[in-house]
Amino acid sequence: MTEVSPFPSGALPLHKPVVVIGAGPAGLTVGNILRAVGVDCVVLETETRAFIEQRPRAGVLEEWAVRGLERRGLAANLLERAQRHAECEFRLGGERYRFEYLRLTGHHHWVYPQPLLVTDLVHEYADVRGGDIRFGVRDVRLHGLDSDHPVVEYVDDLGEDRLIPCDFVVGADGARGVTRALLTPDRALVSRHDYGIGWLALLAEAPPSNDCVVFGIHPNGFAGHMARSPEVTRYYLECPPGDDPDNWSHDRVWSELRQRLGANGAPPLAEGRLIEKRVLDMHNYVVEPMVFGRLFLAGDAAHLTAPIAAKGMNLALHDAFLLGDALVAQLTKGDSTGLTGYSQACLGRVWDYQEFSQWLSEIYHGTSSGDPYLAGTTQARLRRLFSSPAAGLAFAEQYLGKDPEY
Ligand SMILES: Cc1cc2nc3c(=O)[nH]c(=O)nc-3n(C[C@H](O)[C@H](O)[C@H](O)COP(=O)(O)OP(=O)(O)OC[C@H]3O[C@@H](n4cnc5c(N)ncnc54)[C@H](O)[C@@H]3O)c2cc1C
Repeated sequence: MTEVSPFPSGALPLHKPVVVIGAGPAGLTVGNILRAVGVDCVVLETETRAFIEQRPRAGVLEEWAVRGLERRGLAANLLERAQRHAECEFRLGGERYRFEYLRLTGHHHWVYPQPLLVTDLVHEYADVRGGDIRFGVRDVRLHGLDSDHPVVEYVDDLGEDRLIPCDFVVGADGARGVTRALLTPDRALVSRHDYGIGWLALLAEAPPSNDCVVFGIHPNGFAGHMARSPEVTRYYLECPPGDDPDNWSHDRVWSELRQRLGANGAPPLAEGRLIEKRVLDMHNYVVEPMVFGRLFLAGDAAHLTAPIAAKGMNLALHDAFLLGDALVAQLTKGDSTGLTGYSQACLGRVWDYQEFSQWLSEIYHGTSSGDPYLAGTTQARLRRLFSSPAAGLAFAEQYLGKDPEY
């Protein structure tokens, strides 16, 4: 970050109350909350609109997150098209174990692919609420964050250098963005955890092969099955971290999935063309505080949870609800309470979900760890999960996510 004035002499670019960096679920939700009450803002995004509307990623949303979107007028399509999931299934030792979380708790999950949510959010922001969004930007730089007059500098899609003076900057540019790097060790603590495990993330042009999410616990490694739509299914295969996706031919993928997800009475896997195949190294981080001066981080820019427990998009939305509401209170009523407490209000849920991801990782990966002690404790946890109602309830509470009041 440069502290020198970035204005060329004589130029006075247009001021915006808020500049949002990144058009993912976090940035677009903040933008929509601001536009709902007429606060002017601009969203800067490196990719094109077509790209972000098709980028496949998450799919599982927690009830409170959907209620939060609904309250802000952002869930009409979702409520019409998303599937409700009431149970999940573990497969181990050739047997199937159903976990009926709706029956246990009265709560369910929603499945709605992230590209559809992003499409809805961009449409609402840009086409309905009249929000300013600039795609294809490069070289985003932030100036004067610890002053009352920050400035965002970037190169637009025509190669022109642009400046936007503003009051607040939202860093919602994901795990590979530029804003997190500004929270240097003298400004924030970054805690990291590396699982030392890779997941081959796959999208198959094939209908789901089961009526719910399936977790395969197998000596060869974890395997996951998650519906995305009637035509597309997400699969995961545990693999060495840094593995080359080219090591996984079509035949090898389907043969491993059949082995790791195989169980007595399980329907056969519906195979299809693999339209996404990439290796994710399972690691997490948390930035504390999520704020420096006038910069507020949200979503993956502030904290990453490996997709082990399907929590990342939910956390991004939680941050966005709190930050959007806090910015509105500040900019319309001069009430700074929300912004002052923002980081702390987010981090409780962030750490809770981090802890659950770590716990779940041991369940998924213990059997294939090569460590008989870890394999034994994993099996004990699973037996307890299926036999103790109290253990089942505790698991369901964390799997489904806490209430917004948490
Ligand atoms: C395979 C996979 C499966 C997942 N499954 C789930 C799931 O089931 N449930 C769940 O809750 N989570 C899941 N997640 C996590 C979820 O996708 C992320 O947590 C979520 O996308 C975070 O949203 P975000 O808005 O913070 O960041 P992002 O969605 O990453 O958005 C950031 C945006 O910023 C843009 N950007 C980056 N750098 C810049 C820059 N310098 N300037 C301007 N723009 C920039 C990016 O192009 C992007 O559009 C999954 C992730 C993966 C990879």
